[in-house]
Amino acid sequence: MNFDPTTLNNFVLIGTAYAAAFVVTFWVSLIIWAFRDVRRRSRDPLARILAILVVTLLFLPGFLIYLILRPSKTIDEEYQQTLEEEALLQTIEDIPLCPGCTRRVQPNWIVCPSCQTKLKKRCQQCKEPMELAWNICPVCATTAPGVRKENISLDEALPPISDQISFLDDFNYSVDEDTP
Ligand SMILES: [Zn+2]
Ligand SMILES: [Zn+2]
Repeated sequence: MNFDPTTLNNFVLIGTAYAAAFVVTFWVSLIIWAFRDVRRRSRDPLARILAILVVTLLFLPGFLIYLILRPSKTIDEEYQQTLEEEALLQTIEDIPLCPGCTRRVQPNWIVCPSCQTKLKKRCQQCKEPMELAWNICPVCATTAPGVRKENISLDEALPPISDQISFLDDFNYSVDEDTP
C-alpha cells in the first residue's frame, strides 16, 4: 500500500480546517454563553464588558476565570431572596409586643396581663378592640369620644355653662389644695 502524498496532504488540510472551525465556533459559543450569563448576573456595564473581554482574549482559561469570578447569584435570584427576607422581616414586625414590658401580646388583648399596660380601647358602640390612637372604629364607624367633630356651631363646641362653672370650681379647689 502506498499513499499519495497529495491525498495525505489534503486530509491533513481538511482535518486542520475542521479543527480550526471547531475551535473558533467553540470560542464564539463561550463568548455568547458568557455574555448571556453575565447579563443575568450583573447590571454593571463595566463588569459585563470585562467578562466578555476575559473570555474573548483568554479563551478557555478566561472562561474558567469568568466562572470563578462571576457573581454567585443571578439578578432574579437576588430579587427573590430580597423578597423572602422582606417577608420574613414583615412577619417579625407583625408580632405585637407590649410597649410596657415588650412581651408578646395577642392582637385582641385590651390590657397586657404582665404589666397591666393599656394596649387597646374598645369601641363604645360595637365593643370591638381599637388601637389607642384611632379616633374612629373601623368596624362600625363610630367616632371615639373626645374627638373633634367637623362643622359644629360654637354653642355645640362649648360645654354647657354649668359644666364650665363646675370646672372652674374644681380648678380653684385644686389650686387651693396645692398651695401650702
Ligand atoms: Zn406588658
Ligand atoms: Zn365599633
